[in-house]
Amino acid sequence: MSHKLLRDARLYGLLAQIDVELAACVRSSGCDCGGVLHSAKYPRKPRGGPPNLSPDWSFRISFCCSTEGCRKRCTPPSVRFLGRRSYLGVVVVLIAALREGATPERLRRLRRVVGNVSLRTIDRWRQWWQETFPVTQVWQEARARFVPLIESGRLPAALLERLASASELGGVVAVLHLLKPLTTTGISRAAKRPLQ
Ligand SMILES: [Zn+2]
Repeated sequence: MSHKLLRDARLYGLLAQIDVELAACVRSSGCDCGGVLHSAKYPRKPRGGPPNLSPDWSFRISFCCSTEGCRKRCTPPSVRFLGRRSYLGVVVVLIAALREGATPERLRRLRRVVGNVSLRTIDRWRQWWQETFPVTQVWQEARARFVPLIESGRLPAALLERLASASELGGVVAVLHLLKPLTTTGISRAAKRPLQ
């Protein structure tokens, strides 16, 4: 797995496109009350991405029911944003994976690529991956698909390796797809525990 992926324009183009499709799917099903969903994007200041990210990345797609008296907000799952974290999902996946076994020099280079993220932050991400994520419903359901089993202590690197059979880019996108239920509303609290 290479940190060059963090600067690969194809990856960001693909993730943006997936988010648009996920959102279209949510919008077309409408609100639970039968109401029509209107756009109600959240402004975001994404960190860790390449400097030339398109303006779409300054927003999280979200909707609001147009029915008076309901007005329920509906935020579709996302492969770009991981909960309320300021760092992009792809950064939280890749940097946490690359932290494992990285030499101090390599780690310094990596941190520069994503705007000098602190070591404490990276270690919090790894802690989330190895302690919080394994007890989520999402992982409890997904882990059975992997034979031999993936040990929590090897997340997220081992998960990336298993999912990157065709390409590194495909592997990262697959991990983000797996995480996407954690980015939306309507799932259990354990699964939604926010990243710190
Ligand atoms: Zn409604």
